[in-house]
Amino acid sequence: MNFYILTLFPDMVMQGLNTSIIGRAAEKGLLSIEAVNIRDYTINKHKKVDDYPYGGGAGMLMQAQPVYDAWKSIVDKIGAKPRTIYLTPQGPTFTQQAAKSFAKEENLIFLCGHYEGIDERVLEEIVTDYVSIGDYVLTGGELPAMVIVDAISRMVPGVLTNDESGSTESFEGDLLEYPQYSRPEEWMGKKVPPVLLSGNHKLVDEWRREQSIIRTKERRPDLFARAVLTEKEQKKWRP
Ligand code: SAH
Repeated sequence: MNFYILTLFPDMVMQGLNTSIIGRAAEKGLLSIEAVNIRDYTINKHKKVDDYPYGGGAGMLMQAQPVYDAWKSIVDKIGAKPRTIYLTPQGPTFTQQAAKSFAKEENLIFLCGHYEGIDERVLEEIVTDYVSIGDYVLTGGELPAMVIVDAISRMVPGVLTNDESGSTESFEGDLLEYPQYSRPEEWMGKKVPPVLLSGNHKLVDEWRREQSIIRTKERRPDLFARAVLTEKEQKKWRP
């Protein structure tokens, strides 16, 4: 899995992604992350990459030429036109489902805007997917790109050390994960639920499943409404 990130702030992206699990995965060669500095591709002699928007209004807009040439340098290098994701508050909100779909690709290009955004014409030319990370406006697309690269990376086989840990967690089957406990058995007078110490895997699984259901029903009724339940569960929790 190769991630290419088009940005005016390559250090921010690389520093954010070269630590912990993602950094280790990159070191192991399970994935690669390359930040491409859009400024390196401007033909403006003062290295300018932005200008005033036609029609007036606040702020500056990133110009089409440097963005296109930076994108083209990646396409030429890898000899393919990968899905190109523009991080924008105007896209559909990113989900675990979307992460799964992106994880199937071999190469992905992320385009980070800054200032007021990017000249529409280059977006029309290169962008295949518009993606938002939520209904709020940020100063740039770098944090959203990092969020999305992180979510996709942990789906790449081998990135998480325990193969299981990706498939039992929140959002699988539209349920949130059950509560978890580690040592000690008692902390501040609070005891670990006894079933977890029973050594009976069947009972543990049943308890966890029920906790997932209760938790999702309480915390995310919207998810719970579409979660797939057995007939028995359906009767009990969603009569
Ligand atoms: N004027 C634009 C917002 C520009 S914010 C508008 O109203 O749509 C500057 C840049 O930050 C954007 O180009 C985009 O790349 C990024 N950005 C801001 N909020 C975002 C969000 N919620 N999700 C993804 N990217 C976002």
